[in-house]
Amino acid sequence: MGAIYAKLAAIQAELKAPKNQFNSFGKYNYRSCEDILEAVKPLTKAQGCAVVLSDEAVAIDGWHYIKATARLVDMLEGENESAIAVSYAREPEMKKGMDTSQITGTASSYARKYALSGLFALDDTKDADSQDNSSEGKPAQKQPAKTYCCADCGKPFVNITDRTGHAWTPAQQYDAAASVSPDGKARCRACREKLEHPASGPEQGGGNG
Ligand SMILES: [Zn+2]
Repeated sequence: MGAIYAKLAAIQAELKAPKNQFNSFGKYNYRSCEDILEAVKPLTKAQGCAVVLSDEAVAIDGWHYIKATARLVDMLEGENESAIAVSYAREPEMKKGMDTSQITGTASSYARKYALSGLFALDDTKDADSQDNSSEGKPAQKQPAKTYCCADCGKPFVNITDRTGHAWTPAQQYDAAASVSPDGKARCRACREKLEHPASGPEQGGGNG
């Protein structure tokens, strides 16, 4: 016993399953069940093993699920020596234009894919850029920098250096502007002046009153 796990580990270590599918709506690459099988077949063969996929419909709490089982079987030992991973996929709601067999087919290929991913320890992240993605080492998704903008006109604060040579980051200016503001809102200089002198412009010329 246990030899199958050594074989499984050897396969996992060598397996590089490229993400050949591209989702043009979400703009990411992903693997299909077939991609994984194509990549894994030569490795399992070299280990004297085969991958067996099966699925069955199960009902849990009134929902229909497809339970997929991916099994790595030693061809000499048969079922006595196998490593198993199981995955469930819920059948999606009926969509217009899809018949029951199509829906079940979709859920089945999802479940099989995740069972395979589980068995062979493949990550299933969605990579923005394609090529070979062998899990770790990927930079985290770049967060858009938080912008500090004028509460009135929306103009962003930018890095500045004042007359004393002190550098101000947008965040510092934002905080400073907010702290002197009567209502706690950060405003750019122009808007602050407008607020302080609502009549705008220089002196209301004397005129006839
Ligand atoms: Zn402004």
